[in-house]
Amino acid sequence: MPSIPTHSRAAVLRRFGEPLAIEDVPIPREIEPGAILVKTEACSICGTDVHLAHGELALKVDLPVIIGHEMVGRIVAFGAGARRDSVGTPLEVGDRIVWTHTACNCCYYCTVARQPTLCENRRAYMFETMERAPYLLGGFSEYGYVLPESGRIKVPDTVSNDLASLCSCAFRSVMNAIGQIGRIASYDTVVIQGVGPLGLLATAVARTSGARRVIVIGAPAERLELASTFGADVTIPLESTTADERAERVKSLTGERGADIVMEFTGHPSAFVEGLVLPRKGGRYLVVGQLGEDTTLVAPSMIVKKNLNVIGSFSGDAASYWKALDFVEVHQKDFPFERMITNRYRLEDVNLAIERMRRFEEIKPVIDLTE
Ligand SMILES: [Zn+2]
Ligand SMILES: [Zn+2]
Repeated sequence: MPSIPTHSRAAVLRRFGEPLAIEDVPIPREIEPGAILVKTEACSICGTDVHLAHGELALKVDLPVIIGHEMVGRIVAFGAGARRDSVGTPLEVGDRIVWTHTACNCCYYCTVARQPTLCENRRAYMFETMERAPYLLGGFSEYGYVLPESGRIKVPDTVSNDLASLCSCAFRSVMNAIGQIGRIASYDTVVIQGVGPLGLLATAVARTSGARRVIVIGAPAERLELASTFGADVTIPLESTTADERAERVKSLTGERGADIVMEFTGHPSAFVEGLVLPRKGGRYLVVGQLGEDTTLVAPSMIVKKNLNVIGSFSGDAASYWKALDFVEVHQKDFPFERMITNRYRLEDVNLAIERMRRFEEIKPVIDLTE
């Protein structure tokens, strides 16, 4: 591999709560069968990056790690047998791809349950040490390593690096989640809780799915305005209403029944309690944003008495990545996806970007590694 350097500059977290350090991390010389080496083009920042860096995640992290997990890369080298993506599209050096956390294809969840995001042998990017080969398992890095068991999808030429990054976590999670709730009918009212990237993307998908009405609850006002451009018919400001007032508003918009479908993308446990109130009897409640360790108090009888379907959704499989990229390719003129990309940073400025993300000054900032 003459043109590939020996090391990749990467943003490494050695201790929770400390700034990331830009370090030289080895680039593996051997690409194992099924694996791919890429040059990272872009990696957007996710709330999960911020929580992981501060040690606030209810998941095991094997420090030191390269942070970042929403990356798009350009192929520079293949392991044997890796020249097709997960839907059969031929891959060549120079093609851009996004890729999934791994699924082993030989456990109960992969084979019987067919829920590969729940794989018992799952390996997740940015959770494994960079001190052991293949080192480059995080996104804020000049080069990245796609593990053999990772699904991989070729990025359509018309989809930018920024939006491909968006598809590699936020949007695939939305696609995976909405894929689990069944049909959205033309007479359904959908309530979306949260106006972060997932809430906004879910609004666009609900709109396109033909829902009768899409109601979005969130804050601040500028985000609600953005939600309207993503297809919200009605927005309800979180800051100037009480939970009871919001529930009344949803009822008044739905013949006093409540929403047919409610989707949670907030990450706040209190939103879950409210989300049990908003659906109609027999309605569906999709819970996606809750990944922290905080708890809340609920009356489980609400689920029984209303005959609710409460559905959790975690991460996304290769199909969800494909669906997200396809949605962006088809609908990029219908929705202002680029307005979600609030800033572009160089790798050296990753700590600033994370800090601004933590202060809610960003929707989706991107670390741009092309230059
Ligand atoms: Zn993410
Ligand atoms: Zn498995």
